Amino acid sequence: MRKQYRLTMALHIEKTTKSKISEVDFNNLTFGKIFTDHMFECDYENGAWQTPQIVPYHPLILDPSAKVFHYGQAIFEGMKAYKDDNDAIWLFRPDQNQERINKSAERLDMPAFPKDLFFEGLNELLKLDKDWVKKGQDNALYIRPFIIATELCVSASTSNKYKFMIICSPVQSYYTGEVKVVFADKYSRSANGGVGAAKAAGNYAGSFYPTKLANQQGFQQVVWTDSCTHEFLEEAGVMNVFFRVNDTLLTAPVSERILDGVTRKSIIQFCEDKGIKVEVRPVKVTEIVEAARKGELLEMFGAGTAAVVSVIGAFSNKGENFELPKVENSFATIIKKGITDIQRKKTEDKFGWTYRVK
Ligand SMILES: *Cc1c(COP(=O)(O)O)cnc(C)c1O
Repeated sequence: MRKQYRLTMALHIEKTTKSKISEVDFNNLTFGKIFTDHMFECDYENGAWQTPQIVPYHPLILDPSAKVFHYGQAIFEGMKAYKDDNDAIWLFRPDQNQERINKSAERLDMPAFPKDLFFEGLNELLKLDKDWVKKGQDNALYIRPFIIATELCVSASTSNKYKFMIICSPVQSYYTGEVKVVFADKYSRSANGGVGAAKAAGNYAGSFYPTKLANQQGFQQVVWTDSCTHEFLEEAGVMNVFFRVNDTLLTAPVSERILDGVTRKSIIQFCEDKGIKVEVRPVKVTEIVEAARKGELLEMFGAGTAAVVSVIGAFSNKGENFELPKVENSFATIIKKGITDIQRKKTEDKFGWTYRVK
């Protein structure tokens, strides 16, 4: 890890004079539309991170020449906070997000954000906005740390100024129903040597058009394949992907093209502990199609912070459609319950994954 330069200045906190919380209908939330009263901000200039601040949530004023608008030097993270029955607030493996944003930063040639500042900002922000984290199985606070290039100059080169921010949005867990997917055979979200392993904003921008084409044909998501041959299954939309063939779960190893998801690695560990066999290896399109034909493909699901597990009910490959069977005691159900119970402190956390907000 590169040196993380910072000026040693204390966190500056400015509280809002008027909370918006009473205007929010917490039983009727659209994902990611409403934000809490405060945000965390820290600017990078002259080679160092400047005074970190928590301030009332506010729009940014940025000159149109800011580099983020032209060259897409932008990265982000996504994590969730939960409130238990005793009003304690918990995060799930936030160390993983903290490390990952700095890996993404390195790939996009942005400065690493110091670990102590990340946790200090996160803790203080969640303490200030604690009333926005609601108790109950369906409620959580989605947390979005991100970094953008703010140098004012349209020359195509790396920025010398950045802004790190954390914003938070109250969310309800959503059940999208079973989704239908199409295996990619033309477009790709990432390629060898590219930025697919980074949580870079541009990866998402590039995936919207192929996803729209899939939507127009009645599929909610694209299952991305390797960009060279389209023979290996890699990710489902913006989630990692798992396949259950008979009683074995298959998922691709992380690579330069595949994002190292916190949910994915937690599922692998959870399953190994539960005695569910997981094989981490390249997964061929042909073997999944073959398994589906023989009735041995029992489940397919995406894995990510937003939904934990998102069940895939049908897929299409080269114009041929396949339906997955309805299985009793599905791995998807066992995993989703197992992981969310740990996240929400309903069960013992033998893995040491939960982090209590101080
Ligand atoms: C964020 C993301 C995931 C899921 O990662 P989690 O850490 O589990 O939320 C998977 N794939 C892509 C492309 C992502 O951007």
